[in-house]
Amino acid sequence: MTKLIVANWKMNGGVSMINEYISVFVDYVNDSIKLIVCPPYPLLQQARKIFNNTIAVGAQNCSQQTYGAFTGEVSCSLLKEVGCDFVIVGHTERRVLFGENNQIIKNKIDIAIKHQIQPIVCIYKEDHSTDAKALNNIVNQCQELGLHNANDVIVAYEPKWAIGTNITPDINHVKVVLNTIRQATSLPTIYGGSVNMDNIGKLLDVSDGLLVGGMSTKPYVFYKAIKSACKNLGSN
Ligand code: PEP
Repeated sequence: MTKLIVANWKMNGGVSMINEYISVFVDYVNDSIKLIVCPPYPLLQQARKIFNNTIAVGAQNCSQQTYGAFTGEVSCSLLKEVGCDFVIVGHTERRVLFGENNQIIKNKIDIAIKHQIQPIVCIYKEDHSTDAKALNNIVNQCQELGLHNANDVIVAYEPKWAIGTNITPDINHVKVVLNTIRQATSLPTIYGGSVNMDNIGKLLDVSDGLLVGGMSTKPYVFYKAIKSACKNLGSN
């Protein structure tokens, strides 16, 4: 199965980073990886043009509304118009910093699907536990988001304490939580949180792909990490 690598630039990058990406990845053909880059909104159209199907383009967020008087929001119809095929929904930073809850996130999933944009839905977890209660909470979250009935959705498990901290869960934790999500949803499930050059191989091996923040803003390092992980796929 093709592994997904999602690059979340967050509020970083500019036109020059789009150009760096294309110069680094232009000759990189690898059937085992699909790369999806999620730059800030104003860069989407140019990214789509410059990447020209070599790299897919996704947004980092979308409005839960269709259109109208919602200053500062961006609709899924506009995202589709500028060539977005993916959107990250419910990122931990959206929950923690912008007050998004399961209902808002579910509305965003539904509206993205309606516009043929594939949502990359983040599953939130605050603690380190993988006991029965913790796993049950994950299943409940998947159900509240409607993921047990969804198709054409990518699920991303992102423990809050692993995002941008350089702390990653042990591989067994990742395996257990990803399997719980897969059993609850039957959807491809990726991992995100402090993926780096040293841990990328192991994390890619046990997942359907990765959501990468910090390292994805260093195009050459990111490229080298993906290349080495692909070489070692299956051998970790
Ligand atoms: C993220 O923003 O989704 C993320 C995983 O960030 P980082 O890789 O920097 O931890």
